[in-house]
Amino acid sequence: MGFATKTIHSAQPSEPETGSLIAPIFQTSTYEQEAPGHDKGFNYSRTNNPTRQRLECVLAELEGVEYAAVFGSGLAAENAILQGYLRPGDEVILPLDVYGGTYRILNRVFQPMGVTVRQLDFCDLQAVAAAITRNTRLVWVETPTNPRLFISDIAAISALAHAAGALVVVDNTFATPYFQQPFSLGADIVVHSVTKYLAGHSDLIQGAVLARDPAIFEPIKFLQNATGAVPGPFDCWLTLRGLKTMELRMLRHAENAAAIADALQGHALVRRVYFPGLPEHPGHDLARRQMTGFGGMVSFELEGSIAEVSRFASSRRYFALGESLGGVKSLVCHPATMTHASIPAAARAELGLSDSLIRLSPGCENAKDLVEDLQAGLALLESERENCKAQAVLAS
Ligand SMILES: *Cc1c(COP(=O)(O)O)cnc(C)c1O
Repeated sequence: MGFATKTIHSAQPSEPETGSLIAPIFQTSTYEQEAPGHDKGFNYSRTNNPTRQRLECVLAELEGVEYAAVFGSGLAAENAILQGYLRPGDEVILPLDVYGGTYRILNRVFQPMGVTVRQLDFCDLQAVAAAITRNTRLVWVETPTNPRLFISDIAAISALAHAAGALVVVDNTFATPYFQQPFSLGADIVVHSVTKYLAGHSDLIQGAVLARDPAIFEPIKFLQNATGAVPGPFDCWLTLRGLKTMELRMLRHAENAAAIADALQGHALVRRVYFPGLPEHPGHDLARRQMTGFGGMVSFELEGSIAEVSRFASSRRYFALGESLGGVKSLVCHPATMTHASIPAAARAELGLSDSLIRLSPGCENAKDLVEDLQAGLALLESERENCKAQAVLAS
């Protein structure tokens, strides 16, 4: 079965009783039992729910494994992995550009409980090898990273981690299973913010954890029920609906991102474009080997002041200024003041995160409209500068 066929047909037969083409939403908290202890596979919706189970089956198929558990958010999914696998004295290593919420939960929730958190450049395999110790329990990979879309080598990092007995977690939110299959490269656990491309319509918050090995999955499944951070049936149904067009959406997101990267590259007001599809991008060759496409995100540094960056980002016609990504409607974000504001300015500078960096999540609109919107913003900045110059000449 191809990817799109899976999203439409896996675990989703027409409903037998009525023939309803689309499976109903099982909006229920509990299930009537035939006799005490004799249920039909469902006894309480925190533990299991038919709509949620369908979604878990589809997600598992998309990542090419058997086990999936969905959660009320991407961070609830991450929390299940961290609670399941980290104990005081354990170490976890993670990349420099890691998602801000991952940085926060590790440094503010798990570090105070005695977990050592180390952040380093995952593009440098020697540094990764040197950072892994006997105490390393988890190696947390995120590729492409946010916001600069650096690429790290999942297969090489997995080999290093496994040699030391550590587990490899891949946050596959940005690439999605459509463009990247981490389990085939050696990952032990895949985590998603379903909120983004999987659900795809910016209308819900959800997460997922996947595993191939039943023993690795067991603590995750246990914690899904034991700590209870589960999504409701309606949100699971919305994700099932969104998934059915995922291949179409991903193709369009990628096409739009490539068109935007091409249009921005070389513009006088653009210092640098970050898109793995550009041959100049440091991760380009690795992305070609490791992914089946370059994804839908583009970032760039504007050649301008903070005020100009802020004006540009807040006055686009089609790119709404907002956090998040991966929806059909385009978004623009200023990481320094938004998604990465929780990282102190000095630390941001150390990470190389420029205050003039702008992150785009092109939606599924037409490329021409999106490109023209960005070009209009750049042209406006140029004319404002000309005006300033002219006024300065008049005044002198
Ligand atoms: C958004 C995001 C998360 C967190 O997911 P939520 O659904 O917002 O809790 C984790 N990782 C990445 C890469 C993300 O973009």
